[in-house]
Amino acid sequence: MSATLLDLAPKEALARLQKWTKGRGLPSYRAGQIHRRLWIAPVGSWAEATELPAPLRQELAAAFPLPRLEAQTLQQSTDGTRKYLWRLADGEAVESVLIPSGKRRTLCISSQAGCALGCVFCATGRMGFRRNLDAWEIVGQVREIVLATPDDKPTNVVFMGMGEPLLNWPAVSSALTILNDPTGLGIGARHITVSTVGIVPAMADLAKRPEQFRLAISLHATTPELRRSLMPIQKKYGMDEVLRAARAFRKRITFEYVLIAGRNDSDADADRLTKLARELGAHVNLLPLHPGGAPGLAPTPAPRIRAFAERMRNQGVEAVLRRSRGLDIDAACGQLFVEMERRKRAVAEPTP
Ligand code: SAH
Ligand code: SF4
Repeated sequence: MSATLLDLAPKEALARLQKWTKGRGLPSYRAGQIHRRLWIAPVGSWAEATELPAPLRQELAAAFPLPRLEAQTLQQSTDGTRKYLWRLADGEAVESVLIPSGKRRTLCISSQAGCALGCVFCATGRMGFRRNLDAWEIVGQVREIVLATPDDKPTNVVFMGMGEPLLNWPAVSSALTILNDPTGLGIGARHITVSTVGIVPAMADLAKRPEQFRLAISLHATTPELRRSLMPIQKKYGMDEVLRAARAFRKRITFEYVLIAGRNDSDADADRLTKLARELGAHVNLLPLHPGGAPGLAPTPAPRIRAFAERMRNQGVEAVLRRSRGLDIDAACGQLFVEMERRKRAVAEPTP
């Protein structure tokens, strides 16, 4: 039995509530009325659901706790990007980044505290793995924002925060259902993107889902040797196998490609990336390297990034240059937490 309704597919939560209200001899409309308060018009606690009789609210609080994420710090960038650090009940922390762009508000969410995969350029990877998030902790990152300001509700969600979503598939799968269901958060499947380094068995699970969730593959290298030097997962799931699984996905995919000076940004790299994108009909997102990963890696200079993108475009592949957002607040994956750890250490070890 699950600890909270917030972990369950909305339909399943409704079934639980129907059974529970029936068992108490409550009128049949109550279950739906209570259910609305999970996702459609969420409340932070049952006490706030003032359309319900007070004794019922008390019973609900005992029977169906509504666990919360605690917003520990919130930073706002000069470009409007907002970063949240969520403290979890056991003291772990994860972050989300809200990126407004015109009418769109994209929320980048975390699926794990830390990450086991150790990609050399990634700050989260340097933290190591702490634990998987529960479904409610994943979707809670959206829920908390809606609770604070309903108008801030994200229009798009990307699993590009901390962690590897496909190594936490059961919880991520439930989270996808809650995000998308019209009686959940009601965000269109095409507006929800799962980003992965390519955990092949879970890619097949995601492919089996009937909804049109988007898949982004963090490629970052165009030869197995180079990929291995940047991403240790290459030893377990090689590039060829990942690309085969991507082909079997049968929906449009995106390649994510972080440009690192002198490592993966040559003309030959651009040509190989173009070829792969063509073969798979993939979109390509080129990302400037954010600081925070392994020391000694430098971002590709802007003119070289432009030349790289131009070279791909000239060969018929649209490579989108992702703007760096929120740089002034370190809004790249995992950075805030790492920074906090450092600060804590600085306090613990005062300089002589
Ligand atoms: N683990 C998943 C999802 C989280 S990482 C994955 O790797 O796909 C989300 C994205 O941020 C990935 O594309 C990742 O490569 C990128 N990323 C990680 N570190 C980065 C850095 N230092 N600069 C820019 N992008 C980075
Ligand atoms: Fe983990 Fe993704 Fe970072 Fe690699 S890039 S260490 S998979 S979070």
